[in-house]
Amino acid sequence: MKHSSNSVRQSQLFTKTRKEAPKDEVSKNAQLLIRAGYVHKEMAGVYSYLPLGRRVLEHIEQIVREEMDAIGGQEVRMATLHPSEPWKQTGAWDSVDVVFKIVSRTEKEYTVGQSEEEIVTPIGQEYVTSYKDLPLAIYQIGQKYRDELRAKSGIMRGREFTMKDMYSFHETQEDFDKFYQVAKDAYLKVYERLGLVAKATEASGGAFTKKLSYEFMVLTDAGEDDILYCDKCPYCVNIEISTQKEGDACTRCVGGTLARATASEVGNIFDLGTKYTTDFNFTCKNREGQEVHPIMGCFGIGITRLMGVIVETFADAKGLVWPEAVAPFRVHLVELTSDSADVHSEAAEVYRELSEAGISVLWDDRDARAGEKFADSDLLGIPLRVVVSEKTLSAGKFECVHRASGRVEHKSISELLGHLTA
Ligand code: ATP
Ligand code: MG
Repeated sequence: MKHSSNSVRQSQLFTKTRKEAPKDEVSKNAQLLIRAGYVHKEMAGVYSYLPLGRRVLEHIEQIVREEMDAIGGQEVRMATLHPSEPWKQTGAWDSVDVVFKIVSRTEKEYTVGQSEEEIVTPIGQEYVTSYKDLPLAIYQIGQKYRDELRAKSGIMRGREFTMKDMYSFHETQEDFDKFYQVAKDAYLKVYERLGLVAKATEASGGAFTKKLSYEFMVLTDAGEDDILYCDKCPYCVNIEISTQKEGDACTRCVGGTLARATASEVGNIFDLGTKYTTDFNFTCKNREGQEVHPIMGCFGIGITRLMGVIVETFADAKGLVWPEAVAPFRVHLVELTSDSADVHSEAAEVYRELSEAGISVLWDDRDARAGEKFADSDLLGIPLRVVVSEKTLSAGKFECVHRASGRVEHKSISELLGHLTA
């Protein structure tokens, strides 16, 4: 029997669900993810991702990857252990408070990447000699390390976390501005594909440029940011920097009013100007034959934070609820223990047919009570539960329960296949 490697029998899955979350875990996302066996907590702000959690992360990463590739990003994997020298060269060694500092046994200093400008700029410098090599956008999806003071939002604020970070290089400001809009649209597409509504919030450009930057915010009480957003148009601004307040008229449209909300920053994009290309003395020939410092942009997406925001947004009293696009499996096949061997062989048949059609299935083939299986199924949050029991066997149709809405349908295997492959 050939099964898609994407499907898994629950009896073979080494993780188990648990009734209680650890006492010190206050955030809903980490509580549910730990109880359901998606993540394992190592210490405050550091989690391991177990099979179910890894699958969700990979689905998020793949969506991000597709949208970055679509705008011309070239994927790399940069070093995470960094020499201290480039960090001293840019001043970040002393000025950025979240930089971890490591001393080796030979008293050499290192850091671990909290961002990668110090690595990517010399890489760009090595290969870019003229405007013909530009624009260039390099990105990676990988681990970041930050000495964060607060780590109380579960996987939403880690000391180790996964980020997609892209860095772009441009000959002119006009070219940067053009790419910036393209990247902004790609970001909005990413969040939409993940089932989230993100607002592009205007924020100050930070230390290196007076230019506007965008923070992408998803409204959730679990977030750490307060924003004002227009109830009529896409305008949105971070309260921290704004002179406006709740109830003010929107300055971008007619008739809109600013509302206040708590949100989580799931990405940001900004203009780095020539800060890093100047620090590393990185120049290239422009169209007029002059040596110029390329303009750089930096574009981050918090991959693990997004997973936390998705949990916070969709979970209900019974447990996790995954949107289709990121769910670890599309179908949770729940076989109810029975004296009749037919139930098991029927479940095996459904597992085989769905898997062969390319649909990922988690098959609960464990010997456990129905109540326990349903409670676990709710906690795991897989979008569609398909129940095989003596009852469904005699009816010739399986009970299909949609996790998000609770809607119940009865479908034959061919109807089910039709629905899932449509
Ligand atoms: P924040 O204001 O939340 O600390 P930041 O401004 O430090 O974020 P960046 O350095 O630009 O963020 O990182 C890019 C993205 O990485 C952020 O938009 C966020 O989604 C994510 N991110 C930043 N810090 C963390 C963290 N400690 N844990 C998880 N994700 C993070
Ligand atoms: Mg930060």
